[in-house]
Amino acid sequence: MALAAETKRIVAQFEYSDEDVNIGVKEFLRQIDEGLHASGTSMSQIPTYVTAVPNGTEKGLYLAVDLGGTNLRVCSVRLNGDNSFNLTYSKAAIPKELMVAKTAKELFRFIALHIDSFIKEHHYDHYEYHIRRRETMSNPEGYRDEHIFRLGFTFSFPVQQVGINKGFLIRWTKGFDIPDAIGKDVCALLQEEIDALHLPVKVAALVNDTVGTLMARSYTSPGKTGALLGAIFGTGTNGAYIEKLSNIKKKLEGDYDQSTGEMVLNTEWGSFDNQLNVLPNTTFDIKLDSESVNPGIQMFEKRVSGMFLGEILRIVLVSLLQNKTVQLFHDENSSHNDWKSTTSIAPESGIFKQWGLDSAIMSVAALDNTPDLGTLRQELDSQLDVYSPSLEDAQAFKALADAIGRRAARLSAVAVGAIVLQSGKLSDPAYANEPVDVGVDGSLVEHYPHFRTMIYDALRVIDGIGEAGAERIRIGIAKDGSGVGAALIALVAASME
Ligand code: ADP
Repeated sequence: MALAAETKRIVAQFEYSDEDVNIGVKEFLRQIDEGLHASGTSMSQIPTYVTAVPNGTEKGLYLAVDLGGTNLRVCSVRLNGDNSFNLTYSKAAIPKELMVAKTAKELFRFIALHIDSFIKEHHYDHYEYHIRRRETMSNPEGYRDEHIFRLGFTFSFPVQQVGINKGFLIRWTKGFDIPDAIGKDVCALLQEEIDALHLPVKVAALVNDTVGTLMARSYTSPGKTGALLGAIFGTGTNGAYIEKLSNIKKKLEGDYDQSTGEMVLNTEWGSFDNQLNVLPNTTFDIKLDSESVNPGIQMFEKRVSGMFLGEILRIVLVSLLQNKTVQLFHDENSSHNDWKSTTSIAPESGIFKQWGLDSAIMSVAALDNTPDLGTLRQELDSQLDVYSPSLEDAQAFKALADAIGRRAARLSAVAVGAIVLQSGKLSDPAYANEPVDVGVDGSLVEHYPHFRTMIYDALRVIDGIGEAGAERIRIGIAKDGSGVGAALIALVAASME
């Protein structure tokens, strides 16, 4: 079979029709509701204890620490009170030995030391005060509360959050393994090391990156109501949105502010429909899942986010390369029989390795609309060690990559659309003609061409949203979301002290 025909056949498997979108939304709404009423559901719907979003008038200087997978980021954020902010930040690689340290103390001391040097370098006034404070320790009168920095701690590992600055580590991910920390309150661990250095810093809030995105977007986007949803489309995908307190009461323990009648929920939507009631499931999706470290889990994420799109495409390409009836990246001169050697791909190419195809090249494919696909062919050579790809090769690659990217964007619209419907804002006269704001962050939504346009195309066909509803949904990038968001949550927390 000719390559073009086989490509077309596979592209059709990644079609996610208007009808599929609507079926997806219905099921998403059902699973939102299920997560509100029970635990152990597909979507966890974790309460965050954040009960208000900012409106851009907030002011003050806050610290933010972000412990991600590879880097530690410490920053200070000055909120100017006019939807603007100034951010100062430093970044340090986390030493590998600390990721597997014997005790949590070693990792958290490392963080505290970085906070110390950051304050010394950028906020000497606070630092100087702290020295004076130490000298007058016997005189607690010298202690002035306004000199205490409130810190928002973005900790991107699964925690069971039980208060605005309290959360117990459930398990490590992303290569970390410090058994001693499991079950402990990560805010307390950090505060202990900060106190050991006598720093004028209080860990005021524990922050999930999606919540940070929601807060950052609410602060910077002018509007009466603030953002409804913060969503990440990067390595992984997840969203946090504002839910009515009356819908989540059953899940809450401990103290929380009831005055706004709302709370931000972390959906953990990466696990939407793990049971595959409605998610598309091609043979390529099945293969990706079965070869992953967590089969059956994060099934939505495995069809949507940056870490997985490249791998789906790679699996499709390998199946085409193994298919003797088509010729993809074919080496005319090869006399070998095994499928790898008949290709014009270097043996060390990422195409032959699990996770070896970075989804960033899918952006190149989507952007290149020239007749000869010159840029894409060059990138196939430089990034994936494909020697002289033909125009037909590049056309097949582009068609497949575009289909996988488009399906991801339309699935993303299922999540966004369902949450907009869940909020009831489109049909609530109190919000008539108001935009419904969605803050997004992550390389996929930021850099993949037309990702947002494709989301909008799918939003328009959703029952209950339609053309007019989609017009009102405003999806915008939340710049520096993690730093600004953490600062804002620290501010909210400080107001509750
Ligand atoms: P994180 O989510 O870890 O904070 P990012 O938001 O930068 O980090 O997302 C990184 C992911 O995005 C990786 O999986 C990478 O393959 C993917 N990615 C990076 N650039 C692009 C791009 N231009 N197009 C599509 N995917 C991209």
